Amino acid sequence: MKLLKWFQRTKTHALITGTAEGVSQTLVLEPAVLEHVEKSRQLSSVSTEAGGQLFGHANEQEIRVAIATGPYRRDERGRYHYRSNVTSAQKIIENFAQDGLLYLGEWHTHAEDFPTASASDIDAMNKLLTHSKLNINGLLMLIVGRSTLLSGYYITLFNNSRTYKWELSKEE
Ligand SMILES: [Zn+2]
Repeated sequence: MKLLKWFQRTKTHALITGTAEGVSQTLVLEPAVLEHVEKSRQLSSVSTEAGGQLFGHANEQEIRVAIATGPYRRDERGRYHYRSNVTSAQKIIENFAQDGLLYLGEWHTHAEDFPTASASDIDAMNKLLTHSKLNINGLLMLIVGRSTLLSGYYITLFNNSRTYKWELSKEE
């Protein structure tokens, strides 16, 4: 529980919600998630990609992302490349499971203002899908670009055969 509190300690951002055609649930990104991932925005010309995992709750109405973790010390990181350290990720997934938080997916940054998924991002998510025990109908992938506009975020839901892109709006 102590770990959970630490990750939820910030509340300076507005909530972001999303809807996707073909998905009945609403997506909710809590302020602590946004604050955490934005710290890793690739704003300098030498900053490398960062990333980690997404955790929260899901029911029939919504998928609520409450916490983002990472990057970890032993991640693979390059200007246009990121891979979470598998051992670190697994450890934190198990920790949050004990607190009742579901593993919902992955996030990483891109060195572009308005990010989109690369072929290797899609490939990596499809590989994860086949190897993960899922808590929702798929896995989320959040890409964090450099822009502070809503389109600086790119978030999709991957399931077996399809991807769904979330249209985001900010709750003031
Ligand atoms: Zn990427």
